[in-house]
Amino acid sequence: MRDFTIARRRMVAEQVAARGVNDPRVLKAMLQVPRHKFVEEALEAKAYMDAPLPIGEKQTISQPYMVGVMSEALELTGTETVLEVGTGSGYQAAVLALLAERVFSLERLPALARRARRVLDENGFSKVNIRLTDGTYGWQEMAPFDSILVTAGAPQVPQQYLDQLALGGRLVIPVGNRESQVLMRITRTSEDDFHEESMLGCRFVPLVGNHGWKNEEI
Ligand code: SAH
Repeated sequence: MRDFTIARRRMVAEQVAARGVNDPRVLKAMLQVPRHKFVEEALEAKAYMDAPLPIGEKQTISQPYMVGVMSEALELTGTETVLEVGTGSGYQAAVLALLAERVFSLERLPALARRARRVLDENGFSKVNIRLTDGTYGWQEMAPFDSILVTAGAPQVPQQYLDQLALGGRLVIPVGNRESQVLMRITRTSEDDFHEESMLGCRFVPLVGNHGWKNEEI
């Protein structure tokens, strides 16, 4: 079996740290999670490249840099409850598992949820809770969340996410059209107030659901 430790170290140094992600906990987590286990076997050798990769079902695992930026934007310390929307391969959820106390992740496609569950279990990330559902509703039973991370592009911010955010909590979500989005960070500053920041341009697969893109639009 190939040892990917060196490839992973280079990925973190050259693609993530060198471009400005400097939260040491995020960099350490990305050094620890075996990204090649989360991609299809045929793509294993490409797992540490500077690019998103297909994971089946027309979906992708995000580029390492994007995982770094999004994870850092949540400003996690280790005590938080986090919701991810879009489990996909499970890679981002594994990184979050090393950064927060509790991780809940929602996925709408059964084949991806099933595979992510298996890979997470096989690699010591059983603490990640996955639910198969339309994640545009959030996960009301587990709210409030200190952070919500949406890893698919939304046409607008679903109200449910704002409602399920704890006071002081952060929502990170790509918002825009089908071709391109802006990564937004929205912080709940009081019961009724939210502070919005635009972070960077990005391109994600669509968030498909009742409060996202409608199935017939994609
Ligand atoms: N975070 C993933 C990458 C996700 S790609 C990783 O680390 O691999 C985006 C994922 O969002 C896809 O798996 C897609 O099926 C899922 N998705 C899209 N709309 C969704 C919705 N409404 N609810 C839950 N998951 C959704």
